[in-house]
Amino acid sequence: MSEGRRGLVHLYTGNGKGKTTAAFGLALRVVGRGGRVLIIQFLKGLPTGEVLAVKRIPEIEVKRFGSERFVDPKNPKEEDVLLARSGLEEASRGMSSGKYWLVVLDEINVAVAFNLLPEEEVMESVKSRDPGTEVVLTGRYAPSSFYDLADYVTEFREVKHPFQSGIPAREGIEF
Ligand code: ATP
Ligand code: MG
Repeated sequence: MSEGRRGLVHLYTGNGKGKTTAAFGLALRVVGRGGRVLIIQFLKGLPTGEVLAVKRIPEIEVKRFGSERFVDPKNPKEEDVLLARSGLEEASRGMSSGKYWLVVLDEINVAVAFNLLPEEEVMESVKSRDPGTEVVLTGRYAPSSFYDLADYVTEFREVKHPFQSGIPAREGIEF
């Protein structure tokens, strides 16, 4: 159902704020033009404000594959690996189905950096997507292969963040 569209790949990486919220912004734009969106979230257990908001939008489906604890990058638990793998399976099905104009793989770069998912498998599923499906990969620490794969590469660079002056994460703004 891609109606002749050509789906490209976006990479949102770097340590500055705004990657996940930018991806949700793109999802809104697609819905405004009549498309359907699938958002798969890796590592995240608890829903953040934007996830609660898009529950009101039937054209956006969000599926989360993370536990509520933080993943230890040096020693990921078996459960974290299994969750990430299920997320990638769901993502692959969604990307190849032709049902979605946009598929967002939120924090997948971090899942790869923490060795929860093999980089090559992620690349393969993105490449096997329906030709009309646009894909966004978000998260810090993207591997260089993702830079090569993507058509749009945007690095969010932290210049200033209030966390450094002791302001903790704020509801509605950070989560
Ligand atoms: P957002 O979710 O606000 O769009 P993000 O996706 O770019 O930001 P992540 O790298 O996924 O941010 O980080 C997750 C959490 O850390 C978010 O709550 C985010 O607001 C917050 N955050 C982002 N950048 C920084 C930073 N430089 N210092 C501290 N916290 C940050
Ligand atoms: Mg994020």
